[in-house]
Amino acid sequence: MHRFSYVNRPEMLRKLTTEQFDVLVIGGGITGTGIALDAASRGLKTALVEKNDFAFGTSSRSTKLIHGGLRYLKQLEFGLVKEVGSERAIVHKLAPHLVIPERMLLPLSEKKGLGYWLTSIGLRIYDYLAGVSPEDQRKMLTKKQTLKYEPLLKADDIKGGAVYAEYRTDDSRLTIEIAKTAYQMGACCVNYIKVNDFVYDQQRVHGVVASDELTKKTFTIRSKAIVNAAGPWVDELREVNGSKQGKRLHHTKGVHIVVPHEKLPVRQAIYFDVEDGRMIFAIPRGRITYIGTTDTDYDDALDRVVATKADAEYLIRATNATFPSVHLSLNDIESSWAGLRPLIHEEGKSASQLSRKDEIFESSSGLISIAGGKLTGYRKMSERVVDLVIKRHFDKKALKRSYTSKIKLPGAFSSRKQVKRYALCIRRDLVNLGLPVHVTRYLIENYGSQSEPIMTFMQAMPGQDPPELKLLKAELKFTVENEMVMTLADFFVRRTGLLYFDISKVSRWMPQIGAYMKDLMEWDESRYQQEIAALDQLIEQTKYFLRNA
Ligand code: FAD
Repeated sequence: MHRFSYVNRPEMLRKLTTEQFDVLVIGGGITGTGIALDAASRGLKTALVEKNDFAFGTSSRSTKLIHGGLRYLKQLEFGLVKEVGSERAIVHKLAPHLVIPERMLLPLSEKKGLGYWLTSIGLRIYDYLAGVSPEDQRKMLTKKQTLKYEPLLKADDIKGGAVYAEYRTDDSRLTIEIAKTAYQMGACCVNYIKVNDFVYDQQRVHGVVASDELTKKTFTIRSKAIVNAAGPWVDELREVNGSKQGKRLHHTKGVHIVVPHEKLPVRQAIYFDVEDGRMIFAIPRGRITYIGTTDTDYDDALDRVVATKADAEYLIRATNATFPSVHLSLNDIESSWAGLRPLIHEEGKSASQLSRKDEIFESSSGLISIAGGKLTGYRKMSERVVDLVIKRHFDKKALKRSYTSKIKLPGAFSSRKQVKRYALCIRRDLVNLGLPVHVTRYLIENYGSQSEPIMTFMQAMPGQDPPELKLLKAELKFTVENEMVMTLADFFVRRTGLLYFDISKVSRWMPQIGAYMKDLMEWDESRYQQEIAALDQLIEQTKYFLRNA
């Protein structure tokens, strides 16, 4: 089996330019990679192209929860809650190291929110729709219990609370593991390939004109079916296809800010009400806590979405009102990210009121576009798209039914218990390698059982580098060889999440990791300088709110 690596990129490009595919997917977010996996596993000859890196779009900028969307109950979206709620347990089983159970605390206040009884009933319905097992079902709390769970809460406001079951994940790692799996099942998945136009045969889409964003070479890819899974960019491609009629996208921006955990030392994830009627999350994750999200209309550049001062101040204000002793300020924010929800426009509805349901559009020339939806629902969305592709193009072909609920992702263990056992096994080895104990959790949650080759690389690494740098180099080598890392940003943003969760490490080791990557990938000096400059710009972007009104 060829590795999912830049070494095999020329061969993948050859395939893209010379072969005809059954289905070509445009967009390497969770939706596109999910569709590629579903299609390839059912026996379709599949290609996927992504104009930047896998998960470059919204799929690396979400709240990183695999959740049922409690707030959609308020909007009476029972179907959506049922589907994504039930999906949580399935996605957890596919990758128990990466989709991790998280008890969510829901404080109930005197003045805001639904109130005790409505929440109690709502959570019962939520558990019922999502098929939550009895031991994980919601537990209602008294005021005293709630404050014991989270002593930082403003005691005067609290009248009780609830804890309920959710899962947290890393959205871009989930996306890359799905892309890897699709590749292992035969899909030709290539990043840094942009679709610029469509090719028609008797007025039906039959291919695309694409460009290699690294070499700027242009070529044609031929395919019987074409799926537009470009997330926030879906309408751009519908426009090129001349089919942007009827329903259209409505972009809303969501921002998260990251503070050191000691600045907001919440004991577990918490979902709290804000004055304006919205709700936001504060989620502890190792050495940091992240807070989000905002939900505002957006009509600016799609490729560069940043947190403004107003976004950051909104989140700080809401946090300080809920946890009065923490006194967060803009200067406490170490990093941030901002993403766009590709929602379907509904006349007269505000950003927060828009449905999160996915929808499929078919153009008269046969282009299938999918928009809306949630990270959590990617599997069912993918199944629906591939069912449609089969109905339209391969009705007579004997193809399997979707079985992605049974395809484990790379690095997966059979259960959460096994994850814990594995952690105990590798902890001693990591300490012997000179690393602190908390690295165990980082490695397992990012890579699962793939931590093993990374540790082997580290053990074999010559020289006197500090252990932290040796580990980073080992991760780089692993992700370059197995996860189609092409740029420094791919590594620091979407394979390790360090730009968001440990940004000082990025600044500290960027030159050394850049130099190591230069050697591994045989870059010249100018490419190296370009990569460092691009990463510098991304670091700056995470603090955009400091210099913007
Ligand atoms: P994207 O991830 O944006 O992928 C589309 C890809 O298409 C991009 O990578 C882009 O580069 C590529 N592309 C575009 N044009 C072209 C072209 N011409 N050629 C080639 N490639 C192209 N959902 C949850 O379930 N849980 C959450 O906690 C959650 N939190 C969220 C928080 C925020 C702030 C936001 C904005 C969304 C959140 N969501 C959440 C929703 C979820 O993140 C999105 O529904 C999902 O990531 C969308 O994935 P996608 O693949 O459709 O789009």
